[in-house]
Amino acid sequence: MVKITPVRKQYLQIKAQHPDAIVFFRLGDFYETFDEDAETAARELDLVLTSRPMAKGVRVPMAGVPHHAVEGYIARLIEKGYRVAIAEQVGQVTGRGLVAREVTRVVTPGTVVEPALLDEKRPNYLVAVVVEGDSSAPFTSATLGPGRAGLAYTDITTGEFATAQLDAGEVKQELARLQPRECLISVSGVQDPETLNLRPETLPLDIHVTPLPAHRFELGVAQQALLDHFDVATLDGFGCAGKPLAIRAAGVIIHYLRETQKGALAQIVEFSTYSTACFMMLDAATRRNLELTETIRERKTRGSLLGVLDLTLTPMGGRLLRSRLAQPVLDRMELEARLDQVQAFYDDAIARGQVRKSLKGASDLERLTNRVLAGIARPRDLIGIRNTLETVPELTEALGQLVMRNSLFASSLDPCGDVSALVTSAVVDDPPANISAGGVIRSGFSAELDSIATAARDAKAWVANLEKEERKRTGIKNLKVGYNKVFGYYIEVTKANLDAVPDEYIRKQTLVNAERFITPELKEYEALILSAEERQVEVETRLFREICQQVGALAESLLKTARALARLDVAAALAEVAVRCRYVRPELSDDDVLEIVAGRHPVVEQALPDEPFTPNDLHLNTDERILVITGPNMAGKSVYLRQNALIVLMAQMGSFVPAERARIGIVDRIFTRIGALDEVSSGQSTFMVEMVETANILNHATVRSLLVLDEIGRGTSTYDGLSIAWAVVEYLHNHPERRARVLFATHYHELTELTGHLPMVRNYNLEVVEEGGHVVFLHKVVSGGADRSYGIHVAQLAGVPRPVVHRAEELLAQLESGEFRPGTPALKPSQPVLFADEHPVVEELRELDVSTMTPLEAINKLYELQRRVEGADARKFPRGLRR
Ligand code: ATP
Repeated sequence: MVKITPVRKQYLQIKAQHPDAIVFFRLGDFYETFDEDAETAARELDLVLTSRPMAKGVRVPMAGVPHHAVEGYIARLIEKGYRVAIAEQVGQVTGRGLVAREVTRVVTPGTVVEPALLDEKRPNYLVAVVVEGDSSAPFTSATLGPGRAGLAYTDITTGEFATAQLDAGEVKQELARLQPRECLISVSGVQDPETLNLRPETLPLDIHVTPLPAHRFELGVAQQALLDHFDVATLDGFGCAGKPLAIRAAGVIIHYLRETQKGALAQIVEFSTYSTACFMMLDAATRRNLELTETIRERKTRGSLLGVLDLTLTPMGGRLLRSRLAQPVLDRMELEARLDQVQAFYDDAIARGQVRKSLKGASDLERLTNRVLAGIARPRDLIGIRNTLETVPELTEALGQLVMRNSLFASSLDPCGDVSALVTSAVVDDPPANISAGGVIRSGFSAELDSIATAARDAKAWVANLEKEERKRTGIKNLKVGYNKVFGYYIEVTKANLDAVPDEYIRKQTLVNAERFITPELKEYEALILSAEERQVEVETRLFREICQQVGALAESLLKTARALARLDVAAALAEVAVRCRYVRPELSDDDVLEIVAGRHPVVEQALPDEPFTPNDLHLNTDERILVITGPNMAGKSVYLRQNALIVLMAQMGSFVPAERARIGIVDRIFTRIGALDEVSSGQSTFMVEMVETANILNHATVRSLLVLDEIGRGTSTYDGLSIAWAVVEYLHNHPERRARVLFATHYHELTELTGHLPMVRNYNLEVVEEGGHVVFLHKVVSGGADRSYGIHVAQLAGVPRPVVHRAEELLAQLESGEFRPGTPALKPSQPVLFADEHPVVEELRELDVSTMTPLEAINKLYELQRRVEGADARKFPRGLRR
């Protein structure tokens, strides 16, 4: 049997514990990967694949990355969906025997903490889901079946940790809100789709799914994990009593973190149970359709609502804004409080300017504090914390000038003077990135460290002086004192002066022209200097750890301040947007009024810098609940629909809104049915998706909901589509529990007749004028129904070939004149030449303005055209088609 090396044996033991991760094995200054891991790493990271002996004559594949650049490489692997287990050297490196190594962390998409791996303005959520499904319920893209579910999430970079028990159908909506990087599900979800509806393939593609053994999801196991972690006897204080599914999901998270983070769970100190009933529900389709945080096509923030609203200046402010946008609230008091904050900054431009200026100097206090708690802080993190705290007095002063100094801001803005003072006295202003470099702790902070430094300095001074002293003592004028890594300090004497060398010099090395010596005293000082450097790093590391512990002990105040800064940042940013973009404070009410005067689309108005955006009103109330909006293509129906939904949503996140005036009766859910996105990957046709979404709306809308329906029924034949659309409106009008407020845009002009039967329906259309044969879209919403679609006009604008446009006009005329009705024989055929490649001369003839030509010009033109028809073009057209 081959005798393998001890390091190889150690590696194999570690790898056996982490078969599903790429093991980064620390060897000196590198992290090495071996075997298949090496092949994967080399391929994915463009590394050179080398090999290393594992036994006599046997080599295994190896690929490594330098330790100082490891974060970037890990980031790339995580991005590609791999997990990375980091095996560090944990024992003393003595140079003798094997260094102990163990996996200190498993990095997974949901548990990264390295700044290089994170987007600073986004939370990095790890989610666990457990579903008690009904096996008979079919899975659709909108629902997960009628069972109950537990969903817990955490962001270990901020310490946020919450859980909820909810309808299984809501899981997808929560996932769409949280956009987690990683989702933990029971392995039974993979193997046994009958008992658990949540299967990896049903989750959005950008979520990394980690299946875990089913027993982890058992109530007893999960509950114990939580009790142990929070060191409590009961979970009642966290609000999850009687919510077994919520407990199960949360326990799975703690268990998983314990396993992957090796005890660095100190930052998870808060835990809450939330209810989806407190927030506006937005399903995944609605978030996508309204382009809340990213655009549909390019998935970029620019062009989304967040892109317009995010003028925050700190990462934690950015994250708070994003989470408010993702989770609009229903509580009017809470909203008024948020709006008061925005109003305060809106009214006081000076305070706003000062606060925003100070906020620019703030770092990510929330994540930095969590790095301290997790034991992974670096020297510069402490400086970041200190610098941020130093902005607090300025901020407090600026807030003092606010007309309405909001207690929410000031009370929790604690400058944490103890922390600032500690960091300032302990850490130099511009420390190296790593503690191992030394020189992090300020002199005067520790007597122990100072004495080491003094001893080292004295020893260095002695050595520095030695050359002069020895030259004087020995009389050797060119005697030199030098240093190299192999021999340490030495005294060099040229061959010509060897006679003058004193007896106590010990020969160490012979060069061509000189000899190098040491003395016992020089060796003593050398040992002092070298051990002092080592000792210095050792003591600095210990002191740094102690400082971090002291800072960590004050984490609660730090995190409170971080959150207060985030709120300030959001309020000041929303006020800044409101001023720049002329938004107004919405009036909120608990009735079902939606009254928007001169509303605008926050994103489209910014995208139209050259032409003014046409504002439009909206009036909905108990008597007018359903608007049927008709109008030509391109007239602005979709923009109108969306702008109203966005205005409601902005109001309910606590923002001012793009309008002259807005009164918003609080909306519990916004549903949208817009456009048709194929979900072929989930096995559903375009029309099926449309109908699934419609079904979801009709089954879940309430009298407090806002429905934005764009062209329901368009994906099928005219009569089917019209019938469905008609029936949907009737249902929403007549059903006592589904009587939502509805904006219904349609091309079926027949629907305008609904006002004759249904008293709460109103017709509106988008105004268009025809001028000199051209259609002008006024983008103005006016009362009444539209009579034409101008679809052919839009087709022409879009560059559809002229012959097709002409033929379509011809057919439309036949349809409109009643010459053709569906079910009667086919339409009159057109002149064949129209469908052939029409000769350009015909088009030119058609465009000629004969009345303005002189006779000579006319004859010349005629001659030219004739020449062209008979010339080269003759080859192009078959004889039968030539006129
Ligand atoms: P279709 O029926 O073809 O879907 P539509 O009626 O929904 O068309 P929109 O997509 O809403 O039309 O608008 C078309 C374009 O008109 C927009 O991209 C925008 O540039 C412009 N537009 C819409 N509304 C306004 C407005 N109120 N003011 C200025 N421009 C507008």
